[in-house]
Amino acid sequence: MTRKFSLIIDGRAVAGERGSFPVLNPATEASFADCPSASLEQLDSAVAAAGRAFSRWQASSCEARRALLEAIAERIEQNAPELAELVVREQGKPLALAQMEVAGAVAWTRAAAALDLPVEVIEDGPAKRIELHRRPLGVVGSITPWNWPLMIAVWHIMPALRAGNTVVVKPSSLTPLATLRLVELINEVAPAGLVNIVAGGGGLGREIARHPQIRKIVFTGSTPTGQDIMRNAADNLKRLTLELGGNDAGIVLADADVDAIAEGIFQTAFLNMGQTCAALKRLYVHESLHDRLCERLVEIARRQKIGDGMAEGVTFGPVQNREQFQLVCELVEDARAAGARILCGGEPLPGKGYFYPPTIVADIRDGTRLVDEEQFGPVLPVIRYTDVEDAIARANASENGLGGSVWSSDIARAREVAARLECGTVWINGHAEVLPHCPFGGCKMSGFGVEFGLEGLLEYTAPQLMNINLPQPG
Ligand code: NAD
Repeated sequence: MTRKFSLIIDGRAVAGERGSFPVLNPATEASFADCPSASLEQLDSAVAAAGRAFSRWQASSCEARRALLEAIAERIEQNAPELAELVVREQGKPLALAQMEVAGAVAWTRAAAALDLPVEVIEDGPAKRIELHRRPLGVVGSITPWNWPLMIAVWHIMPALRAGNTVVVKPSSLTPLATLRLVELINEVAPAGLVNIVAGGGGLGREIARHPQIRKIVFTGSTPTGQDIMRNAADNLKRLTLELGGNDAGIVLADADVDAIAEGIFQTAFLNMGQTCAALKRLYVHESLHDRLCERLVEIARRQKIGDGMAEGVTFGPVQNREQFQLVCELVEDARAAGARILCGGEPLPGKGYFYPPTIVADIRDGTRLVDEEQFGPVLPVIRYTDVEDAIARANASENGLGGSVWSSDIARAREVAARLECGTVWINGHAEVLPHCPFGGCKMSGFGVEFGLEGLLEYTAPQLMNINLPQPG
């Protein structure tokens, strides 16, 4: 691929003042394109452009905002094959999954277009009327991770625009290209300065968090980075939406139907090779079902076709980057040394590319790194339990609180257990499903604030109370 990529500042495509850096394909470890690297002066220009655009966009009508988001959705749709291929090459996922990511980007853009910003009438009397309005905040800084690069950028940008804000985006330096192209497409239909993009590493992200003219940060990424952003955002009291790490537990109750749930457990644990914030990351299984469920999971793991995401029939791609790949190797070795049984996988594939096969680890306990830490990769620890009270306590023992799930044929019982899990979303007989009309977010150290639906939209607004004293006759 020889395409040239540019930053977009104030509607113009510009080269990076800090030169460029290579973007690697995780299936080959070879560079396939260069990404422009933005200077701090370019960040300032992007923020200034977004500030100028805000003075006009904040006064735009609901119809104008909807029409823009519809036009953006169409541009994404028209360029879907190119975007999907970029996602595969920079992120590694199989093409079918990248196509789903692009389809998700279109669906979420249209869902944001369809949302209404309500005006609540609190009092409506003869002498007084009180209304609660929602006003946009100003320039929003968006910082995104490397696992679902295109979709997460859309999750940040579209509600910000819908609510009347303008945006400066910084994608992960590991996966910047699909987002650069997305912002280029947006700028074909949007006024100059509405959406700007700068690229670079964590240092540039830190400057965004500190920037005095940015009013809000929406961040998706790891918990330590979220903490750093929170500290740096304090100077001008930026509003924050922090979607951070997860270590989601699933609990399989004794009455569950193993054959009915095995596929769902596998797919939601290994979604995007396990590199999904709200993937199932620890599975607690009642002892009566443990062995049978493990057997079924191993069968499904062995059916996966591992390879380059662009190759025909591949269902399982590489881990996105070397650091994450090494962490996965390390966590499995640590589990093995602690006496856990590796039922399948458990060794990286030889040759080029960060390929690690789907790995099921049994006879493992809490206190082992693979259980206690977020693996964010293709390995699932399966932990046996006897007493469901104990399983609930262990599920909640984590510092994270993104998602959780209960698997059972008895919905009433499953609901009781689900209600006791400390997390932002709890699924019954499912996991990892996010929907454009349903608020999604974490508790505890998985962050705060929600995305999607009306509640997600309101995060990009400040309430303004309008207290009107009506003229009185006589
Ligand atoms: P990361 O925190 O390393 O990086 C995310 C982004 O932050 C990148 O753009 C990076 O350049 C930038 N960054 C790094 N240091 C920064 C700093 N000090 N200040 C500002 N920006 C900085 O995360 P990652 O490794 O790209 O993503 C994986 C993590 O993201 C996992 O923990 C995963 O669970 C989490 N995640 C959470 C959600 C969610 O919705 N809760 C979704 C996807 C991923």
